[in-house]
Amino acid sequence: MRCGKIWIILKPGAALLCCAALAFGLALPAPAPVMAAAASFQAGGYENPRTIIIAAPGEKAVTTGEYVSLYGACDYNYPLYLNGTAIPYTEHGFFAQYLSLQMGENRYTLENNGVVKTVVVTREAKKPAAADPTGYTPLGGHCVVRLDNITHRQGPGASYALLEPVARGAVCAVTGESGPYYRLADGSYIFKSAVSYSGAALARNQVQAFKTTPLTEDRSTEIRLKMPAPAYYNVEMQEGQAVLTLYNTAFAWPPPLKENAMILDAVLLSEPGATHTRYAFRFQAGMKPAGYYIDFRDGGLVIGFRHPPAPAADGGLTGLKVLLDAGHGGSEKGALGAALTAGPAEKDINLAITRYAADYLRARGATVIMTRADDAYVSLDDRVAMIKKNNPDIAVSIHNNSVPNTTDQTTTQGILICYSLPSQAADARFFADRLSAATGRPQSGSGLYDSNLALTRLTNCPAVLIENAFMSNPDEYEWLLQDGNQNILGTEIGRAIEQRLLEN
Ligand SMILES: [Zn+2]
Repeated sequence: MRCGKIWIILKPGAALLCCAALAFGLALPAPAPVMAAAASFQAGGYENPRTIIIAAPGEKAVTTGEYVSLYGACDYNYPLYLNGTAIPYTEHGFFAQYLSLQMGENRYTLENNGVVKTVVVTREAKKPAAADPTGYTPLGGHCVVRLDNITHRQGPGASYALLEPVARGAVCAVTGESGPYYRLADGSYIFKSAVSYSGAALARNQVQAFKTTPLTEDRSTEIRLKMPAPAYYNVEMQEGQAVLTLYNTAFAWPPPLKENAMILDAVLLSEPGATHTRYAFRFQAGMKPAGYYIDFRDGGLVIGFRHPPAPAADGGLTGLKVLLDAGHGGSEKGALGAALTAGPAEKDINLAITRYAADYLRARGATVIMTRADDAYVSLDDRVAMIKKNNPDIAVSIHNNSVPNTTDQTTTQGILICYSLPSQAADARFFADRLSAATGRPQSGSGLYDSNLALTRLTNCPAVLIENAFMSNPDEYEWLLQDGNQNILGTEIGRAIEQRLLEN
C-alpha cells in the first residue's frame, strides 16, 4: 500500500486506514457510509500465491505503444525486484510499473524470494490508423431489421454518433452501402448483419387508424398506429413533445386521443402528400416521460410513453421497479486483477456489489429484478430482453473496469459511468457525481463515457452502466478486496438509485 509516496508492506489483516484513504485522495476522517443490513456478500477469499504472477504483458508481447504496464502479484513476505531494483507492491502483494519501451526487444526480469520470471516486450513501429469512410455507394432495395437493440449510427463507422436502435421488424428503403453498413432512407447507417436485405423496391405504407391505451400495467400510455407494414421511423424527444417520423408512409389525420395523463393531443406536422409522415405527440402540461418504447404488434406500430415514477406515500420506493444487472458471470469472468485467476474476478466482485445494492433497495420497498443473482452465465441479449420485458423505472449495470497494458495502470483509476444516448447524459452525470462524493473516490477523467453498449442502448427507461473501480490498477484492486468496500459501493449505488427515482 502507498502512504503518499512511501510504500509500506503490510500483511492481510493488518490495520488499513489512512493509507487506503490517501491512495484515493480522501480527506480524513472520511464520512462512514452506513452499511446495508447484516448481509455479507463480499467477494474475497484471496490468498497470496507466494510466488510471482505476471498478469500482463504475456511472456512474448508485441506492441506499437511507447509504454507498457507490467503488473501482477508477488509473495508479500519478500521484496520484489525489477531488473535488480526493488519496486513497491500493495498489502496483498499487487504491483504495477509503467515502463518506457525502446524500439525492438525490451527485457524485464522480476525476482521475489528466489523466484525469477522474465517477460520480453517487442515494440514495433506504429501503422497509420485507417479513418472511417465518409461516403457510400448508391444502392436500391429495402431491408428488414431482424434483431433487437441494433447498432444504428449517423455515419458508416464507429467514430460517428450512435442513434437510438430501431425496433425489430422495421422495414426501410436502402439508399446505399459502405463497408459493413447499409445506408437508410434518413441517411443513417445500420449494420448489414442486423438486417435482411432485398433488392426489391419498397411498397408505399399507410397509417390507417389510431388507438390509445391511457395506462398500461407498467405505467405507460400507448398509442397504436395501425399500418399494413412496420414502417421505419425515428423519434425525437423534444421539450413538451415527441416527434415521430414514419418513412415512406402516407398519413392519416390523427383523431382526438382518448383522455390520458401523458398525451394532450397528436398533431400532423408534415404536408399531406409528403414522402414521410411526421406526428407530434404533445405532452400534458408539466409531463415528461421517463422513457419511450416502440414495438410492432397487433397490426401496427405501438409507441409507449413511460410515466415518471410516482413516490410512495411512505416516502420509500414501494411500487417502483429497479433492474440491477451484475456484469459477466459463469464462464465469462470479466476483467481479472493482478493475481489473475488466483484472485476474485470481476464477475465475483460485480455480483457482491449488486447484492448489496439490491439489499438496500429492497429494504426501502423497491421491487428489484436481477439479471443474475448467482454465478450464472447470462447472454447480453437475455439481459436486454429482461429490461425490455420488465420495463423497470431504471436499469443499472454494475461492473469494474480495466485498461489495456499500453495505458498507465498505476494512475488510471476511479468511477466511470457509461451511457449511450444523449438522453442518458444527465443520469450518467448524476451517478458519477453522487457516487464519487459518497465514496470519497475520484472520477475517471470526466467520469462519463459515451459508449456503444447493448445495456445502455435503450430508450424505455434510464439505463447506465457503472464501472466502479479499475481491476487493472493494483491500488484499486486492493481497495476492492478490503473488508467492507464492496458493501460501501453497493449500498451507495442503492442510495443513488433511490435519490434519482425520488427526485426526478
Ligand atoms: Zn465488465
